[in-house]
Amino acid sequence: MTIKNFINGKFENPIHNHWIDNYCPANGEIYGKIPNASKEDVEKAYEAAEAAFPSWSETTLDERSRILIKISELLESNLQRFAEAESKDNGKPTSVAKTVDIPRAASNFRFFGNAITQFASESHESVGQQAMNYTLRQPIGVVGCISPWNLPLYLFTWKIAPAIAAGNCVVAKPSEVTPMTAYLLGEICNEAGLPKGVLNIVHGLGTTAGQAIIEHPNIKAISFTGGTATGAHIARIASPMFKKLSLELGGKNPNIIFDDCDYDEMLKTTVRSSFANQGQICLCGSRIFVEASIYEKFKIDFIAKVKQLKVGHPSDETTDIGALVSKQHLEKVLGYIEIAKHENGKVLCGGHQVTVEGFENGYYLQPAVIEVTTDECRVSQEEIFGPVVTIMPFNSEDEVIDMANKVKYGLSATLWTNNLKRSMKMSNKLKVGIVWVNTWMLRDLRTPFGGVKASGVGREGGFEALRFFTEAKNVCIKY
Ligand code: NDP
Repeated sequence: MTIKNFINGKFENPIHNHWIDNYCPANGEIYGKIPNASKEDVEKAYEAAEAAFPSWSETTLDERSRILIKISELLESNLQRFAEAESKDNGKPTSVAKTVDIPRAASNFRFFGNAITQFASESHESVGQQAMNYTLRQPIGVVGCISPWNLPLYLFTWKIAPAIAAGNCVVAKPSEVTPMTAYLLGEICNEAGLPKGVLNIVHGLGTTAGQAIIEHPNIKAISFTGGTATGAHIARIASPMFKKLSLELGGKNPNIIFDDCDYDEMLKTTVRSSFANQGQICLCGSRIFVEASIYEKFKIDFIAKVKQLKVGHPSDETTDIGALVSKQHLEKVLGYIEIAKHENGKVLCGGHQVTVEGFENGYYLQPAVIEVTTDECRVSQEEIFGPVVTIMPFNSEDEVIDMANKVKYGLSATLWTNNLKRSMKMSNKLKVGIVWVNTWMLRDLRTPFGGVKASGVGREGGFEALRFFTEAKNVCIKY
């Protein structure tokens, strides 16, 4: 399978004819190649986007909305094909791609197709000065969207949909590790009648194609989701060029469990918030803090449930945990298990590689639960981004808030308690962008999404995304 760049509505080979192997995590085999796009490919994509901008930015909201919703419908009617492609490329269970990734990608287009028709600007009467101000919200021009491998199409479209809904043209790069569904999206955009050049997709390395996007002088805004170190690098390059930046970065999220919670619901959801998508979700609750009074019971029940999770081939319907995304990532996660042991962490279950019959070279790992005695250890502080959680007890609200906040990240937190006052008080104190109380990853696309501290800058979602992808201009009329 050969993937190509999607530029000006056409599928093209990279200008220098350089390619990268694409691996299937489930069996470790190379199953295709993708362009190793260069600066020249990015320039070509930029030129197509720039040429499309005058017309696209003047397209009526009704027409933009109609096209975005058409893309959404086509994703839905191609659900099976996209889900299989996502699963093969990423290693996630096909069932997850089918129920989470692809439906959400379709929702992203539908949501922003509708949202743009409701996006209004403000007016301010300057009372006593006989003047009226109104705010124009104008598209920026050509914008860059760069996304990671964990939720490939889901996060790719989370950026692209608001960008084009707001009237921009896009140069986008998916992760080099998971390019497949972004490639397939090009076909669907053509079928939906998206004018050529509005969306251009280049494939390749972050350090080459990604770098060319972030340092392009005329790409005026960058929406990036990925690791914190990459985000810092992007900020160093793009900030002195005064680009608008939205950075959605890493997380090391606390899952705080009090003894007055709905225990069964908490237990079921905690298994999911720990290990969904092989623990490769920035929102996973990888640091579990349990009130001391129920700690021993939780430990027994949680481990029993985690041991039941079936690690298997992604296309097997009974699989709970598929393959990790790449060999390098598997090695990184295994490295953290060793670090945990050296730090006196106790591996209560899992943490070893698993061989799946018939797919012996796949990147499978048994989900790991590590008991720690202090939160100040590397496995509790650093983002592992795999099926690994730490657990430890706490004795008071103040103690657990302190531990929850004593980490460089600040993306999300989960609280399990039926005490309303406590949940509100703690939600105020947690230094994160998102708090879930008695649930996890329940998403309403209208809400602001993003983190604080090393988890990023800016918010996506709802009108926040449309504000990011537009420039506000004040017009003042004296009458
Ligand atoms: P990376 O930061 O390695 O990569 C993200 C994207 O940036 C990829 O497309 C990558 O390309 C590209 N890239 C790498 N270097 C550069 C560069 N110099 N200039 C421009 N682009 C570049 O992250 P991962 O793909 O490893 O994703 C995992 C990370 O993403 C985790 O830290 C996770 O927490 C975070 N994440 C955050 C979310 C949030 O909403 N806050 C949601 C999901 C994930 P390539 O793949 O070719 O290297």
